[in-house]
Amino acid sequence: NTGVSSREEGHTNPPVPPERARRRIGIMGGTFDPIHYGHLLAAEEAYSAFHLDEVIFVPTGLPPHKQADRVTSPEDRYAMTLLATLDNAHSRVSRLEIERRGSSHTVDTLREMRHWYPPDSVEFFFITGLDAVLEILSWKNPQEVSGLCHLVAVSRPGYNPKKMEDLPEAVRRAILPLEIPLLAISSTEIRQRVTQGRSIRYLVPTPVAQYIEKKGLYRGKP
Ligand code: ATP
Repeated sequence: NTGVSSREEGHTNPPVPPERARRRIGIMGGTFDPIHYGHLLAAEEAYSAFHLDEVIFVPTGLPPHKQADRVTSPEDRYAMTLLATLDNAHSRVSRLEIERRGSSHTVDTLREMRHWYPPDSVEFFFITGLDAVLEILSWKNPQEVSGLCHLVAVSRPGYNPKKMEDLPEAVRRAILPLEIPLLAISSTEIRQRVTQGRSIRYLVPTPVAQYIEKKGLYRGKP
């Protein structure tokens, strides 16, 4: 008799449950008026860099920071976002914000999206340009936003990443800076080009350019 009960002999530490693999979901919010290669590259780079499972594009309804009367209809912006991402198997487009009445805030979207999934089963990566992240203190509940997601801050021409150091620590903790090839493309520039009758080829995917042409978007709107 070794003095060790069979129970003790067979004792091993209870198996540590493997860290539950949480689904990593990228969220690319934007007005997408229209969607362009700057947006698509930002989403794709975040997808690769952070091993995301998918990226959900969320076109805004009534954008809080933009004048409603100058923005193309949500349905047109949604259609262009769909067209731009159709050939990408890990991209989806959500109607969540365009169907919400009133203005859309990132914090509301994140709160709502959390309920789409079982508790603790997902991690959100909210993808923004550096310009947008530097404005985060003007968002609704910036601290709550930074508690609900990682904030992927992709480089954008004309914005200095060092400026992120001025943000409060609670917000900075959530930020994942990501350098991507710089594309000096903005929706404003694309709208202006269309108004001026200049080409937008190679700035937006071809189906988006065709949609803009067919619907006559931006013709009289800089
Ligand atoms: P506008 O010119 O109308 O202000 P925009 O081109 O900035 O529009 P948004 O739809 O407002 O486009 O942008 C959605 C998100 O994509 C924002 O977080 C923005 O910072 C980011 N983004 C837009 N263009 C680029 C770009 N060229 N490179 C990196 N990020 C970008």
